[in-house]
Amino acid sequence: MSKTDIGSMTLLELQAFAADMGLPKYRAAQLFSWLQEKGVRSFSDMQNLPKVLRETLAETCFLPACTIDTKLCSALDGTTKYLLEFGPGEYVECVVMRYKYGLSICISTQLGCKMGCSFCASAIGGFKRQLTASEMLAEIHTAQKDLGERIAHVVLMGTGEPLDNYENVLRFLHLATDEHGLGLSMRHISLSTCGVVPRIYDLAKERLGLTLSVSLHAPNDAIRSALMPVNRTWGVEELLRACRAYTQQTSRRISFEYTMIDGVNDSDACAMELADKLHGMLCHVNLIPVNSVRETQYKKSRAQRLRRFSELLEQRGLTVTVRRTLGEDIDASCGQLRAKKLDAQKPQTSPENGRLQRG
Ligand code: SAH
Repeated sequence: MSKTDIGSMTLLELQAFAADMGLPKYRAAQLFSWLQEKGVRSFSDMQNLPKVLRETLAETCFLPACTIDTKLCSALDGTTKYLLEFGPGEYVECVVMRYKYGLSICISTQLGCKMGCSFCASAIGGFKRQLTASEMLAEIHTAQKDLGERIAHVVLMGTGEPLDNYENVLRFLHLATDEHGLGLSMRHISLSTCGVVPRIYDLAKERLGLTLSVSLHAPNDAIRSALMPVNRTWGVEELLRACRAYTQQTSRRISFEYTMIDGVNDSDACAMELADKLHGMLCHVNLIPVNSVRETQYKKSRAQRLRRFSELLEQRGLTVTVRRTLGEDIDASCGQLRAKKLDAQKPQTSPENGRLQRG
């Protein structure tokens, strides 16, 4: 019999669960507080529950067993990166960044990723499985506990495509913003997608008040399809139509992420085409110098090119920011630490003798 994922339950679901077990209603509230507010990792820590109940829960339910495998702190800007292990060989990355307004965590939503963007380390090693809501919450609780500081901002921009794990992500969003749980504000949550168009329409209907980031990275299908295989399913026009509908339905501004890659998507022509396509939309463009990933050949656009690209967009009425790169000394870009770990664990063929070696 599979165990119940109790950490992914809403308070209402917990109440039904407690009622099924013949427990009084207040037990559900106690459980919710241990799971969502305090983020305990073991039933034995739930001190105000009777011992028998704690033992029954341990037998029938599970909590994500999340341990810190690696912790890296940037000497440059205080960014902290965690590689968490959820099960044997199941590594999940999250990064905590320090801003003037407080701590922000970038969490992973899947174990690996199916999307295969050519510049992104998350694609390395392929897709393993979806993360549950309780596992996404565990990323925040673990980092928060380790740092001893409250994390009030969350970005779903780590490994994985959040809109390819829609049900679990939606559940996560409801739990993370529950006032009896972590109590985050939806306004302090950003969700980044590579452009899973049908789910953008679904998300618009939820009217959540979060910030939607769309990883655009190119103004046309020729360049975008070469960088991002998802574009072969939903092209630029279709994606931008969904984005316009999203802004109209939610009155929320979309943040377009545009990774600047030397000689690939950073020409004047690209800037003008981009400005043209985004004309009149409630949006903002975030230019990100590509983070060099060991496995790819891409190089950052030069500073002068970045400035010119940004100016061209601004002259055409767009608001633009250039993202500050944080944690560069600790490989803080998506999936880099996990890719390294998986690579190190892979059986390797030694060139000298052709024998298999453990890395
Ligand atoms: N799947 C989602 C979220 C994960 S990626 C998405 O595609 O939006 C989070 C952001 O980091 C995306 O904008 C992605 O394109 C960007 N990114 C990935 N690898 C990068 C790299 N090497 N340099 C700069 N940005 C990168």
